[in-house]
Amino acid sequence: MEYVTANSVDVPALGFGTWPMKGETCRTAVEHALHTGYRHLDTAQMYNNEDAVGQAIADSEVPREDVFLVTKILRQNLAHDDVLRSVEESAQRLGTEIDLLLIHAPSRSVPIEESIRAMNELQERGIVEHIGVSNFSVEQMRRAIAASSTPILTNQVEYHPFKSQSEVLEFCIENGVILTAYSPLGQGRVIGNEVLEGIGEQYGKTAAQVALRWLIQQEMVAAIPKASSQTHIEQNFDVFDFELTDEEMERIFDLQGGLLSRLRTLIGL
Ligand code: NAP
Repeated sequence: MEYVTANSVDVPALGFGTWPMKGETCRTAVEHALHTGYRHLDTAQMYNNEDAVGQAIADSEVPREDVFLVTKILRQNLAHDDVLRSVEESAQRLGTEIDLLLIHAPSRSVPIEESIRAMNELQERGIVEHIGVSNFSVEQMRRAIAASSTPILTNQVEYHPFKSQSEVLEFCIENGVILTAYSPLGQGRVIGNEVLEGIGEQYGKTAAQVALRWLIQQEMVAAIPKASSQTHIEQNFDVFDFELTDEEMERIFDLQGGLLSRLRTLIGL
């Protein structure tokens, strides 16, 4: 396993996404992920699977302290008292404390500062270890950082070979914040991409594995692919025995520009 470090906290660079799995499917997948070696799990109030994730952790042979557990507050629960109540309910469903609590997405009505204050209170009570945000712009990150009495550990955003996050990533690197890449496989769209497959051939790796390697090889980036099949769960974890060259990294960055210019041509810009 490789780690991304922010404010002396080591976060496993490869985590396991659990949306949209629920119930027994989710529990089995998480249990298999833990058995495979994943030590970073991503869930959310919105996913309706915190109970299944908690059950898998409880049933696993992996000690609880070795697992980095992330959950997120539903957008509708971001008012101060709703944060306190809903996160206590999350902890009950999970059956354990939360290592990292995120605002799932900025509220349209509740100021960021109000939610952060409640999250800081949950840290003081010991229910939550670290806090962070998701789907935040640079400006929203600035506000969260200024409002919090503790570091903002991550901003979880959509990031994969077809989606640029250069502005957010630059800010994250400058401010010691981890960028956690969600939908790192572009929800499966990276599969079959010729550039990724071509690069993978030399290493005996698939397009999915190359995409994940490209992400975790970047400074301050972690990735949380979701997989339900055992083969995919294991394949996605098998990305620590090869390294992409600078030139290969650049060719994958070019996919973002390539797609954009193709889109511009299509819409006549
Ligand atoms: P993703 O991880 O990019 O892609 C998941 C899809 O790729 C599934 O259909 C999966 O199929 C397939 N897949 C996985 N590994 C594969 C492999 N090795 N080869 C071929 N196909 C493979 O997309 P995502 O689920 O949207 O994102 C991952 C996680 O990020 C979510 O589960 C969730 O935890 C988090 N997320 C957060 C937000 C947010 O707002 N913060 C938003 C979206 C997602 P199988 O299931 O059949 O294996």
